[in-house]
Amino acid sequence: MTGEEIVRTDEFKKCLDFHGHLCPGLSIGYRAAKAGLEWLAENRSADEEMVAIVENDACGCDAVQVMTGCTFGKGNFIFKDHGKQVFTFFGRKSGKAVRVSLKPDALAPSERHRDLIQKMRNKEASEEEQEEFRSLHEQGSYVVLERPAEELFKIEPTQVAFPPHARIHASNPCDRCGEMTMATRLEEVGGEKICRDCKEAKPS
Ligand SMILES: [Zn+2]
Ligand SMILES: [Zn+2]
Repeated sequence: MTGEEIVRTDEFKKCLDFHGHLCPGLSIGYRAAKAGLEWLAENRSADEEMVAIVENDACGCDAVQVMTGCTFGKGNFIFKDHGKQVFTFFGRKSGKAVRVSLKPDALAPSERHRDLIQKMRNKEASEEEQEEFRSLHEQGSYVVLERPAEELFKIEPTQVAFPPHARIHASNPCDRCGEMTMATRLEEVGGEKICRDCKEAKPS
């Protein structure tokens, strides 16, 4: 399929709806999730819950959530603030895992594209430049969607030790603001048990 055809598929449209625009980043997340799902389909038992770990919080993560069904709220979508285009997918029970990392030369925007990204960020792009940016962004997305997965990513089995569900704790009121706070998040300061908001707030 061509990039333009992929963009029109139902599954990609869902990613687009969720994220709000077509961009190379979203396309990377889509391809990474596909690669991960394919690997897991061959290597883990089908009824096992899957977990995704993302090492950035950029555009691609939206496609990962849509494609895998792993979400923040369910606790099976985990963000590690490593600033890398690395996505790990695994089965919760078996721990069978695959690590999908973007190759250094996989996404190389031209100098012009980089300039325009910067101008867009600084809100300095003229109408014409905005148009050019959108077209380069679109072309960049198609390139990502069309390239063979092995050219985009290093895809390798890995091991993940993942703690079992332990997300529900009792809540107690914070001694300062009175708001109910998960007991494990209250910290003792000067004999009071206070929440993180109160701890971070400047003392009055
Ligand atoms: Zn985006
Ligand atoms: Zn408080």
